[in-house]
Amino acid sequence: MIDSYGRTINYLRISVTDRCNLRCQYCMPESLPSIDHEEIFRFEEILEICQYMGELGIHRFKITGGEPFVRKGCMDFLRQLKALPCTEQVTITTNGILLGEFLPELKEIGIDGINISLDTLQPEVFRQITGHDGLETVLENIVKSQASGIRTKVNTVLLKGINDNEFPDLLHLARDYEVDVRFIEIMPIGFGKNYEGYNREKLLPKIAELYPNYQVTTKQRGNGPANYIKIPGFRGCIGFIDAVHGKFCHQCNRIRLTSDGMLKLCLYYENGLNLKKLLRNGAEPAEIRSSIESAILQKPSEHRFYLSALEGEPEHRKMSQIGG
Ligand code: SAM
Ligand code: SF4
Repeated sequence: MIDSYGRTINYLRISVTDRCNLRCQYCMPESLPSIDHEEIFRFEEILEICQYMGELGIHRFKITGGEPFVRKGCMDFLRQLKALPCTEQVTITTNGILLGEFLPELKEIGIDGINISLDTLQPEVFRQITGHDGLETVLENIVKSQASGIRTKVNTVLLKGINDNEFPDLLHLARDYEVDVRFIEIMPIGFGKNYEGYNREKLLPKIAELYPNYQVTTKQRGNGPANYIKIPGFRGCIGFIDAVHGKFCHQCNRIRLTSDGMLKLCLYYENGLNLKKLLRNGAEPAEIRSSIESAILQKPSEHRFYLSALEGEPEHRKMSQIGG
């Protein structure tokens, strides 16, 4: 559907859990109180909401977390979501630790894409960033995922003084494998406030030094706001998601569902629509649909990172509770 600022909203990011098997220092460095079992939005409730979304023209769904694969029943849910008549596309974002065991089934279900988050190629830095071992497993799963033919992307957050020296090595994943590598600018949400990151403006000159023949590509390569370049000889593209400094709010196409059933309209703002309450209070489908519609019409015009909020309260949730 079209929102009040003329933007087409066609993409819903669904966080299915706030739990995670890693402790990335900029996201969830310590265990946070997790949502109680009864308060978590049940899979059948999410599926019902997705059908209303479909009726409003939102047909593309991204499953995220926390870590989606730690929630029991995630695969059955993905199968059912993929089978809804309104579904055009289902993709997933994962830290890649548990991905290997699910890959054959994801392939069979026909999952449309997998984004794997990986910030380093050094085992000790992996441990420093995520609080766990597991680099080898994630790398193996990246290789398996792209070899399976599922469209695979690697998402990397570069942090000043932590993994920024690995920029060329991370870039080379797109040379050696059939993957796009996207550099996400750290956002000052939750623990992300404590870090300094990189955006395209800072990274492109480094690429130009190594690969002066790179080409900017304008071809859309997914649902996201990434800008891509192509480096001759590379199998995948390099993308930049500059959420803070390369503000793309004017073309934002997305809304979010948190794992406790809140519809979130902008990453930056806390306000939204309590869908769990509506559903559990027995609201009729027409009422739920029109509530979603009104909420989308109130989607804020833009984020206000580093400015003061205009259209409500800034978000207090952590990124692991939102899903990125
Ligand atoms: N656990 C899954 C994963 O790591 O891909 C899905 C959830 S995680 C919150 C989704 C993405 O958000 C990851 O790529 C992570 O690096 C990114 N992320 C977390 N905190 C961030 C922040 N403050 N700024 C930018 N990206 C962030
Ligand atoms: Fe977990 Fe993903 Fe957050 Fe890392 S970025 S703590 S893997 S939710």
